[in-house]
Amino acid sequence: MSVDKKYHYNQLTDILHCDLDAFFASVEQMDNPSLRGKPVVVGGDMHSRGVVSTCSYEARKYGIRSAMPTAQAYRLCPQAVLLPVNMPRYLEVSKQVFAILNQYSPVMEIVSIDEAFLDISGCSGIFGSPEKIGYLIKKQVNTELGLTISVGISYNKFLAKLASDMDKPDGLRVIAPSQALDLLRPLPVSRIWGVGKKTQQNLEKLGLKTIGDIQILPPEWMEAKLGTTGRIFWELAHGIDNRELEPEHERKSMGREETFPEDIKDTAYLKKLIAQFAAELCRKLRKEDLNAASITIKIRYYDFKTITRRKTFPPCNSDITITQIANELLDQSYDGKKALRLFGLSLGNLSPSAGLEQGSLFDPQLTADHKRIDQLMDDIRERYGPRAINRANLLLDKEID
Ligand SMILES: [Mg+2]
Repeated sequence: MSVDKKYHYNQLTDILHCDLDAFFASVEQMDNPSLRGKPVVVGGDMHSRGVVSTCSYEARKYGIRSAMPTAQAYRLCPQAVLLPVNMPRYLEVSKQVFAILNQYSPVMEIVSIDEAFLDISGCSGIFGSPEKIGYLIKKQVNTELGLTISVGISYNKFLAKLASDMDKPDGLRVIAPSQALDLLRPLPVSRIWGVGKKTQQNLEKLGLKTIGDIQILPPEWMEAKLGTTGRIFWELAHGIDNRELEPEHERKSMGREETFPEDIKDTAYLKKLIAQFAAELCRKLRKEDLNAASITIKIRYYDFKTITRRKTFPPCNSDITITQIANELLDQSYDGKKALRLFGLSLGNLSPSAGLEQGSLFDPQLTADHKRIDQLMDDIRERYGPRAINRANLLLDKEID
């Protein structure tokens, strides 16, 4: 592939990033009108060292931010209304929002409980320009659900996400290809996708404070200093991002991955993460009456070098079986020496489970027990939310969203 071909990007602004504003707090304010216009903080209990999940824009004026200890938030604004996280309710509303988004395009990638990408190429004939579609989405979410959603529109995921963030709350922003370079130039390097605090410091040591500082360099310089990562940062600094959307319905596999705020080497933590991902994914499998017959783990090192390791096994959807196999794969492929920036687990070779477990790896009695426990936990989560119950090995030191 020639360099020109590689950097030839789609000139159409047909990627939308839709991101609900102060989601948890907004749902609380919508459900309880007396909270509207007031500083609302949703988060953990301040007496048990909880942290803020989301706070309303009224609370942000006092300097309250997500991930801040709830006790500190209270000190900043004693009149703030502190509420516990009501996840079942947020999930319910989230589903309604995604159903609205899906009306505008069948190609949707759900990023988290309050954000999704839409690919609207091909939908403009029905609804009008991308900006019009963004406007219609905002209007429908607001009239039907009483929430504001910020929409960013551009020709790739990186810029669409940047755009949705620019006019928050209640934003609608288009970044056209001709605007990208100028718009990126003054921004700090931390706005580049994948640049955390540590990487930002490294870039600043190289004299690179703004995205514009990277734009004036040749890509080879970046690559020489930072390896493949340098090349990726250079591309993003130029508004180039060729990542495709990963819509749910095209799924022949399902997966979860986590990018760490700081690079880590902690294999015990990775195993907790495996247990958490396996529990989530197996629950999805059981809900859709599916079995998986392969596991892939993805390991991305601090330098962006990425490896995947795969293993096949008789079809199953048991948390414990999947967790054990994934743990073995991790032990075989990672020695805990080189720091990681991302870990992912995905299940493939999906097939209908038809209620029968064939060729189980475990003795039948044990398998039956596991299935009963899995079923019980599914029922409880269904009724009280995904975090209502977890196996003991899932109790993490920090929340994973
Ligand atoms: Mg949001």
